[in-house]
Amino acid sequence: MKTNIHQLLTQTPLDTEVVVKGWVRNRRGSKQVAFLTLNDGSTPHTIQIVVNFDTIAEEILKGITTGACLKVVGKLIASQGQQAKEVVAQSIEVYGLADGETYPLQPRKHSLEFIRENAHLRARTATFGAVFRIRHSLAFAVHEYFNKEGFYYVNTPIITASDAEGAGQMFRVTTLDLQQPPQTEEGQLDFAEDFFGRSTNLTVSGQLEAELLALGLGKVYTFGPTFRAENSNTTRHLSEFWMIEPEMAFYNIQDNMDLAEDFVKYVIRYALQHNPEDLQFLEKRLLDEEKNKKQEERSPMPLVEKLNFVLDHSFERITYTEAINILLNSKPHKKKKFTYEVKWGIDLQSEHERYLVEKHFKKPVIIVDYPKAIKAFYMKSNDQEEVGKETVRAMDVLFPGIGEIIGGSQREENYEKLTERMTAMNISLEEMWWYLDTRRFGTAPHSGFGLGFERLVQFVTGMTNIRDVIPFPRTPKNADF
Ligand code: ATP
Ligand code: MN
Repeated sequence: MKTNIHQLLTQTPLDTEVVVKGWVRNRRGSKQVAFLTLNDGSTPHTIQIVVNFDTIAEEILKGITTGACLKVVGKLIASQGQQAKEVVAQSIEVYGLADGETYPLQPRKHSLEFIRENAHLRARTATFGAVFRIRHSLAFAVHEYFNKEGFYYVNTPIITASDAEGAGQMFRVTTLDLQQPPQTEEGQLDFAEDFFGRSTNLTVSGQLEAELLALGLGKVYTFGPTFRAENSNTTRHLSEFWMIEPEMAFYNIQDNMDLAEDFVKYVIRYALQHNPEDLQFLEKRLLDEEKNKKQEERSPMPLVEKLNFVLDHSFERITYTEAINILLNSKPHKKKKFTYEVKWGIDLQSEHERYLVEKHFKKPVIIVDYPKAIKAFYMKSNDQEEVGKETVRAMDVLFPGIGEIIGGSQREENYEKLTERMTAMNISLEEMWWYLDTRRFGTAPHSGFGLGFERLVQFVTGMTNIRDVIPFPRTPKNADF
């Protein structure tokens, strides 16, 4: 019976006859014996296969190099070498050889850039095996958390006709003939001729639709693909990413913050419990990688310690105004080290967020009550404020090394205030009639947020580039594989 390598290493008793199937990571040996290490994706570790040439014809071993896929029948024994167990082969079947000259992944260490260029094969590397197993665990934990908390999982559309979500540039969805597009009498593109009879795009957020569902079902969440056509080539932005968006009736901004903190801690704890070996592997990888870096560029804590630290401390909660005051009093501000100006009203830049999180508080920070002028139309206004310093009940959760991981708010439930704001921001009330209906009929206080799933995976795995935590990254000028 076939067992996976994780089970073999952790559960299967010695002297059992086993069947192992997997890919060769490494081969070494002598005239009488060959040692193959195999991995099958179930663990970051490999199992060593001992091949004695008096049992297995040397012929069979001939073309077997790194990358070959094999079935091995043999006996699990205590190992003489470093590992606790190994398999002595009784028979070997080759499923597929990998030409040693052209197979890109060799046993030596490759750079992440090189592996990214070979993303079609990267599931076979130790690093990406660990990253994708952790990604799976986190996704599973997301569903487990919301299910246990009484949320319903809902799916919001990927193709949308509303462009009022206000979260950046969108990808157009069309079946019009781009060579000869139909035109209106005024010479504009005639979207009446398009597939849906109107202009459509890929969604940038499922929030507005999730609000409709929450105002009936109570507590809902989405977990789906999200698209942004921004030309931002950073280590934290993808053109296609996955977002988790809970939306809750009867939650105010405090409840929203409590939920965000509890939720993120739950999924991190889940990964610590379910992927200890993967995390240890990635921690070691990071330490090796950082050996060559300057002290100040190294992570302040090893990966697992960092994750436990987040679990053991409550997130700092401050208002935007407090954040600005901290920045104004900071060393980098006084020494003019920030590239962007600091003053009340600015959108906090990554350098500001990182100062607050990594230097000042040294832990996750939730900033609330942002200036109204820099936030979306649907956020709830705070009352009684200095003219020119109006704020909304927006919250951003900032993480060390990542910056913004969550953005959310209490929503404006008051019809008059909402429509007034939309009008001021040139958002069509007519087009948004369905959204406004929730405020016209049985409106209710409610809140929600969006968590960028890949940024969470980055934090938990310690991978510095977001392209390395999604199997097939989409970024400007790159849609290979
Ligand atoms: P940023 O300022 O970092 O570009 P944002 O404020 O535009 O993000 P939101 O619209 O608030 O992002 O989206 C909610 C969450 O989705 C963010 O907190 C972040 O975790 C994630 N996110 C946003 N844009 C991207 C992207 N291009 N790639 C990956 N994750 C993203
Ligand atoms: Mn945001």
